[in-house]
Amino acid sequence: MDETQVELEVLFDKFNKANGLSKRLDSSFLDPDIQVWLDSIKKVGQKWINNWANSRQTKTKGTMPYVHLDFVESMKIDAFAYEADGYGFIGIDVGLILLLNDFFNRLLSSCDILENIGNPSVETNSSAPLPYLTIGLNSYIMLYEKGLLPEKIIPKDETRRKYATILFQLAIRFIVAHELAHIRNGHCQFKNSQGRKSFISELSLSKHSINNLTQQALEMDADAWATVQGMTILKGLNDQINNMPISWDKYSNPVVGGMFTWIIAVYSYFRLSDQELSEVGDICTSHPHQAVRQSMVMSTIYSYLEREFDEKELEYYFEILPDCIKEIEKAISILTHNEIDTRTIEKALGLRGRRNLDLILNQWKTVIRPQLETLTYAIDLVP
Ligand SMILES: [Zn+2]
Repeated sequence: MDETQVELEVLFDKFNKANGLSKRLDSSFLDPDIQVWLDSIKKVGQKWINNWANSRQTKTKGTMPYVHLDFVESMKIDAFAYEADGYGFIGIDVGLILLLNDFFNRLLSSCDILENIGNPSVETNSSAPLPYLTIGLNSYIMLYEKGLLPEKIIPKDETRRKYATILFQLAIRFIVAHELAHIRNGHCQFKNSQGRKSFISELSLSKHSINNLTQQALEMDADAWATVQGMTILKGLNDQINNMPISWDKYSNPVVGGMFTWIIAVYSYFRLSDQELSEVGDICTSHPHQAVRQSMVMSTIYSYLEREFDEKELEYYFEILPDCIKEIEKAISILTHNEIDTRTIEKALGLRGRRNLDLILNQWKTVIRPQLETLTYAIDLVP
């Protein structure tokens, strides 16, 4: 570890304290296996950030600060971004890392979920239910905090184990990209320009310090950017997956297996960030309802495919989208022993969700984008 790395860790801890945030996670006190695992996730995440920060879109402007990624000692399902002392900082609560890893392992450990991946017949379906998942994330966090989560669950089949890891990495990559967008696209600077702290968190649902429609538009921009970053690796992702014994059938097209996998990963993340305080269409919260965010992510994928791929991929997309939604909703229902409930996503795709999106887009165009022009570190703000 070089000097600068240590200095950044010290700065991160110092600024976290000043912002009333949890302290940096010192992994050296953890079980060596977990320590190695967490450090490797952080290392990969830092590499993604460095690559994004050195892209043509940011290099052209030449003002992008160095962004440091770290974990914090908190079991909440949160992540945050801020700027201080000429650096960008991204923090992820270790609770979020553990939850996602646990969730994807449970998914693939069940013989009834993602049945086309590897050999599901060797998996059992005996995992203890996660009864609290759909009625509130806070209860789920409590399970972790009290050490009440049942034993570590890992898929038995090697392919399914690998697939769980891929889903986990894709979800983490989305979260890191989302946080980086808050810095890269000038969101933190924007908050600063409003006389506020340049701090954006994913969990603060309280009535926000700035107009919430504004905050929701910033969140949407971060989601959209992270989604596009997801789409740019589709082909590579597909190559990786196609080397595995998966019976894709209708997903054997060069990008469709990758697309299916990416959507499953990110859709799961949104389902897990379900915060019961918020309603579809609510504009008093810092983030749009998770289902509205999902519907926006889906339309971002559509625009991306329309631009970058041909008609065939677009057709596949509409074919696999309902499959993805069904698969995750089925998974959540199996893992929680509850009935499948698609009412929320239907509501988000309906009138309430559309109205929410229209308001956000209008806020983006008329209020935020003009101001971000001078604050962003990149040249590719969406219109
Ligand atoms: Zn955000």
